[in-house]
Amino acid sequence: MSDKITVALTDNGGFRIYSAITTDLVNEAQKIHKSYPVATAALGRALTAGAIIGFMGKEDATVTLQFKGDGPLGTVLVVGNTKAEVKGYVANPFVDLPLNSKGKLDVGRAIGQGYLSVVRDNNGGTPYTGQVQLVSGEIAEDLTYYYATSEQIPTVIALGVKVNPDNTVKSAGGYVIQMMPGNDPDDEKIITQIENAVATLPSVSTMIENGSDGKEIISALMGDIKFGILNETTPKYKCDCSVKRVERALISIGKKDLQSIIDDGKGTTVDCHFCDKSYSFTTEQLEKLLENCKH
Ligand SMILES: [Zn+2]
Repeated sequence: MSDKITVALTDNGGFRIYSAITTDLVNEAQKIHKSYPVATAALGRALTAGAIIGFMGKEDATVTLQFKGDGPLGTVLVVGNTKAEVKGYVANPFVDLPLNSKGKLDVGRAIGQGYLSVVRDNNGGTPYTGQVQLVSGEIAEDLTYYYATSEQIPTVIALGVKVNPDNTVKSAGGYVIQMMPGNDPDDEKIITQIENAVATLPSVSTMIENGSDGKEIISALMGDIKFGILNETTPKYKCDCSVKRVERALISIGKKDLQSIIDDGKGTTVDCHFCDKSYSFTTEQLEKLLENCKH
């Protein structure tokens, strides 16, 4: 099944449902970062969430999800936008841990304890930042807790990644269900249906592995509750780095630090964390950038 985000609304207007198939996108991330399975699972879950939450956002906004735990993976960071383009990295992609007691990749232990911060940046306005303590480090639970406490929106989130023995991704995806403001007599019935479905359905990565598409995942969650599809899009792993951006980053380190790189006389190479592209600068090029340094 090719990558897709599908958005649906229940006929009573009470719930918005997003399903995402992200197998290709997470495979692309695995290839770039050469990550081991538990790192791929953590990054893949975060990327799937980043793609959905980015797509949920308003025009031109980006959302950054940063999972900063004390586990061996270090920071996991993803950035998504309203076009469902997402990029991300994990500080230590070569972490290897035994499976957890349920026989699953132990993302919770790999991330550890710490904080989740969510930054919403709508291009020019003051970015909105929310921060919560990590509940389990399993990504979906942490985001559910974030929505409940920081944004006061009742939300159900499931995310899953299965990894093949050769480290490629077998299936990846997730869903987000949000309760809309308002109060309809049918809401209680729908909540019960969702709770039953979440408790009895196979994991989302298993559904995707078995060939379910986005609409089928939503149908499985909704049972006999009526809904309509609002729109669909193709999420993508996409880095927006460029020479200009790297130059701006070098200028921003300030006169003193830039001068000391110049004094080394060897030039410098900057690697993009998100796509592993290298940008090299000669001493002469760095001297030109120095002229643009304000402090
Ligand atoms: Zn890049």
